[in-house]
Amino acid sequence: MVILKNVSEAKFKHILQPIADVCITKEQQELVDFESFFTHTICHECCHGIGPHTITLPNGQKSTVRLELQELHSALEEAKADIVGLWALRFLISQDLLPKSLLKSMYVSFLAGCFRSVRFGIHEAHGKGQALQFNWLYDKGAFILHPDEKFSVDFSKVEGAVESLSREILTIQAKGDKEAANVLLQKYSKMTQPLKLSLQKLEDIQVPVDIAPIFPIANKILE
Ligand SMILES: [Zn+2]
Repeated sequence: MVILKNVSEAKFKHILQPIADVCITKEQQELVDFESFFTHTICHECCHGIGPHTITLPNGQKSTVRLELQELHSALEEAKADIVGLWALRFLISQDLLPKSLLKSMYVSFLAGCFRSVRFGIHEAHGKGQALQFNWLYDKGAFILHPDEKFSVDFSKVEGAVESLSREILTIQAKGDKEAANVLLQKYSKMTQPLKLSLQKLEDIQVPVDIAPIFPIANKILE
């Protein structure tokens, strides 16, 4: 837990914060905070453990989601953990199990996080899953691109969009429907204009794609 938090803090400080400065509108910039970023990371990992895994096919046969979705499984599973994680945060707040102060900041931190993960490349599961989510939410009007080329969250639309994508992915997984997974990924998991625009800006100011943790104590033990 200590390592996870320290690594997350470094990612936030050196990557997410600079991304927010460039890609998020001034009014919403202060809503990008470490608490939301880190709580969502935890929720993402928890959500891998819930949702459909063992399923029953229409012909009555037992199978698993991984077996049915094959090469499409990883991208869809990463997108599920992210978007259902966001849905779960909203649920936990509504049950008074998490502070209400997270409500707006988790969506804006998530938006900034989209640009971070897409930079791993959309041929990799996390990047592919993230492009799907960004483009879905943008399509539904939950994310808005302004004339100054910065983005903001429309809080009146984001909840519904998060829920509809969660439902879409979980239904595909529950059915083990590879055809539907393919249609969804083909339509949304691509490098669209708003994504390209942000990635170009991040290239220009040279925000790092990732950090490389150094563990001095572990090295000492190995010596
Ligand atoms: Zn994951």
